[in-house]
Amino acid sequence: MDAVEGSNRAKYECLLFDMDDTLYPMSSGLNLACRKNIEDYMLQHLNIEESEVPRMCLELYREYGTTMAGLKALGYEFDDDEFHAYVHGRLPYESLKPDPVLRNLLLSMPQRKIIFTNADREHVAQVLNRLGLEGCFEGVICFETLNPPPEPTEYNEELEGNGVCKEGESESEDNAADMAESNSFRPRSPILCKPSVEAIEAAIRIANDDPKKTIFFDDSARNITSGKAAGLHTVIVGSSVLVPGADHALGSIHNIKEALPEIWEGEEGEQLEQVIQTTAVETIVLA
Ligand SMILES: [Mg+2]
Repeated sequence: MDAVEGSNRAKYECLLFDMDDTLYPMSSGLNLACRKNIEDYMLQHLNIEESEVPRMCLELYREYGTTMAGLKALGYEFDDDEFHAYVHGRLPYESLKPDPVLRNLLLSMPQRKIIFTNADREHVAQVLNRLGLEGCFEGVICFETLNPPPEPTEYNEELEGNGVCKEGESESEDNAADMAESNSFRPRSPILCKPSVEAIEAAIRIANDDPKKTIFFDDSARNITSGKAAGLHTVIVGSSVLVPGADHALGSIHNIKEALPEIWEGEEGEQLEQVIQTTAVETIVLA
């Protein structure tokens, strides 16, 4: 936190990073492997017709942000954790290698840095560990953050009776599965995820950011468009050309210093770098 103290007057105060295909390149193969696992899950666990699976997987991804969100919108019932364990549990994580260049870049940035991903917490932990980026981020906004499990229905009499969790918790925003047919065009998903502007606004609230002083990095053009709609400064990663809503384009996250020197502006960057080098061994506590 001490590194952040001096940045009150800085142009940017917070950096929101997507993780998959943003902090490491698409060429790692994780993305393809993940899609294959999702297709297997649809076939094996949801008994979806084999010939339908690839098309459906892609269409739901396009329509809902994640295939999982689309499946839920269509009324498929399955356990979130089980799904994540299935599709991420067998990913070739070994193809991700430590990235000390990126680590040093991240640690030298004076702003707060937060991961904002549609993936689940366990996957985030695996990826950050493999990339050697633990300790580089103040926090993680992930699937579980935006989609907390429903409140337990049975009263836990053992808990102290201070009323913290008992009354007034029947929020209207609980699972919206029964709203599936309320929208005329498409059923709504109970899952909150990018690229919905609502999800991005929720992340901004959770991170307690001022969007005008926040830069959002993502490899997905549609996420960038939504990020801009939510008022963020935006950077498309993995593309050398701008997409709608993008303020900058970065072929690789490694090019960040050349493309966005203003991140380091107004700060005693070199001093800070040295301070951070000495504290870089600290371990992050995820979410
Ligand atoms: Mg991504």
